[in-house]
Amino acid sequence: MPKVTEKVSKAAYNALQNIVGPEWVTDDVAITESYVKGGEIHDCIYQRGQQPPGVVVMPKDTEEVQKIVKVCMRYHLPYTPIGAFWGVHCGGKVPFHVSIDLSRMRSLEWDEKHMVAIVGPGQIHSPLQAEAQERGMYTMTPGGGSQAAVIGNMLTCNYSPLNYRLGLATRRILGVEWVLPNGEVIRLGSLATSDDPYWGEGPGPDLRGLLRGYLGWWGKVGIITKMAIKMHPLFLPERMQPVERGMLSTLEFPDNRIKWYNFRMPSEEAMRKAMREISRCEIGAAVMRVPTIWRYRGKSHSREDFWSKWGPDEAKIRSSRATSSVCRVLLIGYTSEEQLQYEESVLMDIMNGLGAELGRTKQSDQSWIKNADSAGMWWPAGGYVSVEFVVETLEHSFARGKTLLKEKESKFTPPLVDEYGEEGWIQMTDMGHTSYFEFLIQWDPEHPLGKYESGEYKAWEHWVASQRTAIDHGQFTANIGSLSVMGLTGPAFGPNYGEIYDKVRQAVDPLDISNPPLDLHDRVIDEFAPKWKEDYNFQTWSELMHDGKEWWKVLTSRDIEWKDCLPEWYWDRDDKEIG
Ligand SMILES: Cc1cc2nc3c(=O)[nH]c(=O)nc-3n(C[C@H](O)[C@H](O)[C@H](O)COP(=O)(O)OP(=O)(O)OC[C@H]3O[C@@H](n4cnc5c(N)ncnc54)[C@H](O)[C@@H]3O)c2cc1C
Repeated sequence: MPKVTEKVSKAAYNALQNIVGPEWVTDDVAITESYVKGGEIHDCIYQRGQQPPGVVVMPKDTEEVQKIVKVCMRYHLPYTPIGAFWGVHCGGKVPFHVSIDLSRMRSLEWDEKHMVAIVGPGQIHSPLQAEAQERGMYTMTPGGGSQAAVIGNMLTCNYSPLNYRLGLATRRILGVEWVLPNGEVIRLGSLATSDDPYWGEGPGPDLRGLLRGYLGWWGKVGIITKMAIKMHPLFLPERMQPVERGMLSTLEFPDNRIKWYNFRMPSEEAMRKAMREISRCEIGAAVMRVPTIWRYRGKSHSREDFWSKWGPDEAKIRSSRATSSVCRVLLIGYTSEEQLQYEESVLMDIMNGLGAELGRTKQSDQSWIKNADSAGMWWPAGGYVSVEFVVETLEHSFARGKTLLKEKESKFTPPLVDEYGEEGWIQMTDMGHTSYFEFLIQWDPEHPLGKYESGEYKAWEHWVASQRTAIDHGQFTANIGSLSVMGLTGPAFGPNYGEIYDKVRQAVDPLDISNPPLDLHDRVIDEFAPKWKEDYNFQTWSELMHDGKEWWKVLTSRDIEWKDCLPEWYWDRDDKEIG
């Protein structure tokens, strides 16, 4: 087996070193190996197939980024841009690639007059939110954590309940500076004609849709080196101060301006009507149905505390689910106390008319304005992934939840944690014009079940199966593009999405060197669980797209074969019994 560094030639390494200086480039395995682990647990689905880079390089500015991608082009070196590397699925998938770690490019500038923040690709959410509040503005932090890079997150997700009032990420991206895979710089919005990035649309075609698409390209179309983001006026005269420390740190709400409400809804129909009516009346800052397990996590001081409540409460949770579910609403008096009072009276009218019952809830924020709990919230059982996270209509959210619950309970529980009939997370987005749905699953990775019965294996199978049911039921799914294992080719999806996707990719990155490949999961499934291909009528990307193999040519042009160069730990891990 060749050593990692042997496949990045000395000439290429020297060229990279000449750009950034010896301090900011390395092929030390102790460092390169660390670029296969993001925020998720060890042995999670997304980690399979990740490859340690051959080289890590850290540019300081756009010019260095341009020079680096040009060197990568010249030497056919696939590369992966890295922001804060919170999501492990974001890591490189091709052996001996170059990790372009952007964390030195941490600029944060302000245009206070137009309420715009201009960030570099290494900047993370936490200082952005803190500085915004100092200046009388705010933004939303993603539920996954304010340790995520702002640009990396804006390009891929940027989801939270505040999307209801603040809109999805695409609507808040303004001027953008973008280094294409060939090293050319393209500027979008007002940056195209000036140095002021305050405007996102035009002149000329607005390419933000191409850049971000639906979920984003995960570094597949080059590198964003600057992004202007629309901020929002802070609804309070001063910054909210956190109380407590660490994971328990939270922002206490001044109750005259910002308030949570938990309503017990008598039926699913009442829940749907409430969500629609609140949006129609244009009140509220967030409207959602939160899975019961999250409420238990929110109330727990530790993982042990969580389990001491969750197990014994099964009967209670099942019986309360049979009769009601909770609609959670956040109201903000953006302009005044009177606004909050007005919105509260509208909300009460809606809820009383639907027979809802107001319950108690904590008046603070731990997750959406100031994010302090992300590291612990996601893993009460040790293992977690979302098999679905999709923006569509409210009807779609409810339908998709039912399909996925049936699939999970009939085939995968146990080992997946029984959530006692939970149909997933639903939140209104874009003032109710769209709805976000997420189906989260948990398992205990320490449970000794053996490889094919383990939580990880079943979670992954559920993830593959969920794409089959999306196609079979005509339900839209987030598992498209580079993350998809099947492509969306069912009749409900119109023209072959994969073909359009591939045309765009070919246009901007004909060599396929920017964060390849598209078909990571095809290869991993081929090797790890080939029977799923038959079970779920699975089609690989290369079957769906005739030209989807360029990255493969890039490897072979460097005398590299996929199988020959997988690191040893990859095979060791496949052979071992999990648990
Ligand atoms: C447990 C967990 C929970 C999560 N929950 C949420 C959530 O509630 N809401 C939410 O919005 N997100 C959530 N996420 C997703 C995640 O936090 C971020 O969207 C993602 O990790 C991006 O931030 P990052 O700094 O980690 O980027 P990275 O992991 O470094 O990169 C993300 C992707 O974008 C590419 N990329 C990074 N920077 C650039 C750039 N400058 N130009 C071009 N491509 C680039 C990378 O190649 C990579 O493919 C969650 C993730 C985890 C692990």
